[in-house]
Amino acid sequence: MKAIRRFTVRTVLPEPLRQLEELVLNLRWSWHHETLDLFRAVDPALWRAVRHDPVRLLGEVAPERLAALAGDRRFLRRLQDTADDLHEYLTAPRWYQTRSTPPGEGGESPTSIAYFSPEYGITAALPQYSGGLGILAGDHLKTASDLGVPIIGVGLLYRHGYFSQSLSPDGWQLERYPPLDPNGLPLTLLREPDGTPVRVGVALPKDRDLRAQVWLARVGRVPQLLLDSDVEDNDQAARDVTDRLYGGGGDHRLLQEMLLGIGGVRAIRAYCDITGHPEPEVFHTNEGHAGFLGLERIREMVSEHGLTFDEALEATRAGTVFTTHTPVPAGIDRFPRELIERYFGGPGDDDVPVERVLALGAEDYPGGDRTVFNMAVMGMRLAQRVNGVSALHGQVSREMFGGLWGGFDTAEVPIGSITNGVHAGTWVAPEILELAAREAPSVPESASGWESVRNVRGGEIWRVRRLLRERLVVDARRRLRESWRQRGASEAETSWIEDALDPDVLTIGFARRVPSYKRLTLMMSDRQRLRSILLDPDRPVQIVIAGKAHPADEGGKRLIQDIVRFAGSEDVRHRIVFLPDYDMALGQLLVQGCDVWMNNPLRPLEACGTSGMKAALNGGLNLSIRDGWWDEWYDGQNGWAIPSADGLATPERRDALEAAALYELIEDHVAVTFYDRDAAGLPRRWLEMVRHTIATLGPKVLASRMVRDYVERYYEPAAASARAMSADKYAGARALAAWKRRVAAAWPRVAVEHVESTGEESPHVGGLLTVRVLVDLGTLEPGDVTVEAAYGRVDDSDALVDPAYLELRGGEPAEDGRIRYAGEIPLARSGAFGYSVRVVPSHPMLSGRAEMGLVALPAAPPGMTNGDLR
Ligand SMILES: *Cc1c(COP(=O)(O)O)cnc(C)c1O
Repeated sequence: MKAIRRFTVRTVLPEPLRQLEELVLNLRWSWHHETLDLFRAVDPALWRAVRHDPVRLLGEVAPERLAALAGDRRFLRRLQDTADDLHEYLTAPRWYQTRSTPPGEGGESPTSIAYFSPEYGITAALPQYSGGLGILAGDHLKTASDLGVPIIGVGLLYRHGYFSQSLSPDGWQLERYPPLDPNGLPLTLLREPDGTPVRVGVALPKDRDLRAQVWLARVGRVPQLLLDSDVEDNDQAARDVTDRLYGGGGDHRLLQEMLLGIGGVRAIRAYCDITGHPEPEVFHTNEGHAGFLGLERIREMVSEHGLTFDEALEATRAGTVFTTHTPVPAGIDRFPRELIERYFGGPGDDDVPVERVLALGAEDYPGGDRTVFNMAVMGMRLAQRVNGVSALHGQVSREMFGGLWGGFDTAEVPIGSITNGVHAGTWVAPEILELAAREAPSVPESASGWESVRNVRGGEIWRVRRLLRERLVVDARRRLRESWRQRGASEAETSWIEDALDPDVLTIGFARRVPSYKRLTLMMSDRQRLRSILLDPDRPVQIVIAGKAHPADEGGKRLIQDIVRFAGSEDVRHRIVFLPDYDMALGQLLVQGCDVWMNNPLRPLEACGTSGMKAALNGGLNLSIRDGWWDEWYDGQNGWAIPSADGLATPERRDALEAAALYELIEDHVAVTFYDRDAAGLPRRWLEMVRHTIATLGPKVLASRMVRDYVERYYEPAAASARAMSADKYAGARALAAWKRRVAAAWPRVAVEHVESTGEESPHVGGLLTVRVLVDLGTLEPGDVTVEAAYGRVDDSDALVDPAYLELRGGEPAEDGRIRYAGEIPLARSGAFGYSVRVVPSHPMLSGRAEMGLVALPAAPPGMTNGDLR
């Protein structure tokens, strides 16, 4: 019989063990090895059985065992120490508190920052993530906690989370969505002071309401608010809004995003109200899904402070940071415009008129699709600061979204980049952390100290690397056996698994989601060659593969089936395995145990990629296409770059070329180096590369570097801008909105009328070129604009390459109401040289020259000096 209701009965802990509950409820355990060791000690066999989930551990541990522990002095002392350590962690000043501009003392540092994400990967025991975006969000919160950055995380709590993957007998991906009972998760319900659970609501058409309760997770020092629509006061459709991660399309997805963005802001207000937590000054949105938060903040300001929509838009933008995460169209939400009209055109929506909403998400630039509403585009229009997640992805995003900034060259499109990072405490094996800490106690979270890994003896590193490889092999065999049994194999048919994989063989890992651009099966392009690599008698290679296809992606499932079938062939099955259900736990095992981390995306579609960073921190070497972070930090010594044939060949030809290069690298370089041993049996050159990788990449790939970058380059400037807008009853926002309206209206008449230069008759390096310009500002004043010369090298088509800019002096009236400007351009280098002149809007509250997308250029190219400079 099926139960009609399910719930979780919580264990009542004996008094001396009460602190266990506190430890479980703070997710710091997910990256704190001493706390995990303490949980293990509660019942080691059960700890394995519950897959390291401490809530289940406490739910299932026998009362007798608890009674015994309650009288075990050594255990109680350990419990006390661990609880004390947590209290110290939660209260002592950390990096953020010791910065030169302490928060709340008139300095620049924001007192509170809200971080919105549709998914979070904190631990395998909370399956609220599907891939890189969620894992990154989890690492961001954990690192903010470690650094003391006052972030509040906001997300949704999905009743079914992301699916767990298994295989059918013929290797087809099967999905299961085990229900999660929030009462069985390390969460507490956010309650009003009188004890009633907080409700936030979002109004829907036809007088419907979407309501949600709010779960509070504690990620170390960081509170995380998770909205859950499964409450009695909702109709069934509304209850199902948070049923699963990225569920359905159309309405379902839109409702999830309305709840995340609009409901999320309301949840923050409730949380701050109840707890006295400072209201966020900066709002950071992780990809476009949470973009509606900007609309809710506009609505608040219009209704509470009497601002116009435009004034509120300026105030909102100033404090908003938007991070774009993918150049792949499928990763960007686009809704039919009618859907937005249906949900935002209601009678109560006067403060945020639907035409304004539609305009924010419109692809009204060349090449855009006029029928859709684009969440990333809205995100960029609602944020004064925008970034991509690696240097290359920043460049790709400037090209992709440049249309939003009109006449500016790609290089000037105001999208910056902060390269992602990973949280060492979560991803690095304790044994590696110990090795590093022996040389430099500040490791892992500090950027310093990694260099000293060079002093660790080769034999020591090799011992730990083998230990981690063996751990992977043992666990992989267990997973393989389970998977084969579940697919219907008999005991006898799985006996070969005892000898599958080998703890002394070069181990290559490949684990990722399976969208087509990641090319799961590139390695199988030439099966015979792959076979000979795997079965090489002197230098064998083994490959461990994992990955989930999106449930609706039949093509991806076919790729998985291809791999699974190949890996089932009798001749190679001991050397190549597919492990089902890639999640954080399997990810940890793989990035720690593999010698080589392979990645072969179609460049430049991998915005950053983070699994290779995790491998590097564990002493794994990367073998990857130069895409995302690897394009930036590959240095010839820290692994291998697979040459990319992007732009040179048809897709088939490109795959063939890149696969051939991959095989050659494995055969001639990777395997040769790994098996080249000295008299002591150590691979010297390999260990050199491992040391070099940890020492040089260690400080770069850390999430602590990433979060510091966000604080210094985005959060602090955004907080300063937001304060400038809101001070004195939003005088700044009112002034900026009025100024922008005036400038935008007047801009069509702005023109560069005349340009002349002297000094180009005999140009030589070190000389000066004097430029004189007449501009027509129409109704604008000189103070509204900057007139500048752009100058530097020119290419064959006379385009300026990486030009420098010189602000021209002047502003005096000339005849006919024209305004005169002038300046001296330094001729600093020889070769083809050119310059141009432009007028751009200028206001101290703009984040940069391109913000408004407005520029006036000379009608005809001015004097271009194409002769060689001497
Ligand atoms: C790190 C990680 C990812 C993201 O890795 P990519 O390199 O961006 O593909 C995805 N899933 C899991 C489980 C991870 O641990």
